Amino acid sequence: MTKSDSSRTVQTQILHPQDDLTPGFESFAAPVTRASTVVFPDLASVRALDWRNDAQWRYGLHATPTSTMLQHRLAVIEGGEHTLLQPSGLSAISNVYFGLLRSGDDVLIPDNVYSPNRDHGDWLARDFGITARYYDPMIGAGMADLIQPNTKLIWIEAPGSVTMEVPDVQAITAAARARNVITAIDNTWSAGLAFKPFDHGIDISVQALTKYQSGGSDVLMGATITRDRDLYLKLKSARMRLGIGVSSDDCSLVLRGLPSMKARFEAHDRSAFALATWLKSRGEIAAMLHPAFEDCPGHAFFRRDFTGAGGLFSVVFDERYSASQIDTFCEALDLFALGWSWGGANSLVMPYDIASMRSAAQWPHRGTLVRFYIGLEDEADLRADLERALATLA
Ligand SMILES: *Cc1c(COP(=O)(O)O)cnc(C)c1O
Repeated sequence: MTKSDSSRTVQTQILHPQDDLTPGFESFAAPVTRASTVVFPDLASVRALDWRNDAQWRYGLHATPTSTMLQHRLAVIEGGEHTLLQPSGLSAISNVYFGLLRSGDDVLIPDNVYSPNRDHGDWLARDFGITARYYDPMIGAGMADLIQPNTKLIWIEAPGSVTMEVPDVQAITAAARARNVITAIDNTWSAGLAFKPFDHGIDISVQALTKYQSGGSDVLMGATITRDRDLYLKLKSARMRLGIGVSSDDCSLVLRGLPSMKARFEAHDRSAFALATWLKSRGEIAAMLHPAFEDCPGHAFFRRDFTGAGGLFSVVFDERYSASQIDTFCEALDLFALGWSWGGANSLVMPYDIASMRSAAQWPHRGTLVRFYIGLEDEADLRADLERALATLA
């Protein structure tokens, strides 16, 4: 039923509708609540606003019911308490940097970190008076020797982007806790499903929701999740000052992906493991950098700490193949697209020159590294495609 006050003009009635259509309506879909302006019932509510209070609605940039629903569900998946959303995974990383570091502080970053994180650390070091140091991701308890009095933050990635070393997270977080240093993990690879960061002493978890959470290759978003209210408020304050927000429409796309995420992750895991097993047996491949395989540095930590692997892994080709031969192999693949943002349904491939991406840890391999993301195509079709493209190397 639509009520209206017919003493007013149609234009005014449209701007001040009397209808309330929601009572009695329920569905599985997340309602999309779009807002720039948030409207207050009275001035007492305006004057009682406190940015720390999550029960208050304040401004569309900061939170809407749709974004808050997504925040709560991500906290449940990750085992955290407080989530903040950012418009990309990289923006979530940046929110951690600007929320926690001040000039004079020191940050430790794993040598195999997601490249734009590395670039962000270098930028802060060059222009903002912090020091950014890179560490060997397999350092483990040796982390204790790297921590300085001004070290504020340690980044962890498990496993590291592209090269897939699995760090000893517990040893690193123990060293950090002993010296009151905050740890932040980029937990995108595990989607928060296969690795529970807060059970391993991590303070802040970052997710690129662009990947498995969305699952659609069509939305960019990131999240920071923590159990610590004080850290949460530091991140929230920086987020507010930097003007970081997300659209409810984008949140609804990510919310739509969450119910199927576990089933998709497990399907990617099964196909990726089967194809990696087959690739490992091929003479063209010198090393299998999939955490579930023994060749992968940190495999024992993977077995100790993880419950699954998803679809992303890398291989090192035999050094007898030149970089341009490997380029030809990648381009010869028909079902694997050349692209970065994995986590969707489609398979991807990308070659990397790792030696040029590192400064702290010696890269032991001489052949070219290729990263695969195994999508939801039929596994036998993917294998046939790989076999055909490998033939170009003969
Ligand atoms: C994709 C990705 C990011 C960044 O996510 P965007 O939403 O693309 O900015 C960060 N970390 C890892 C490990 C990623 O794979």
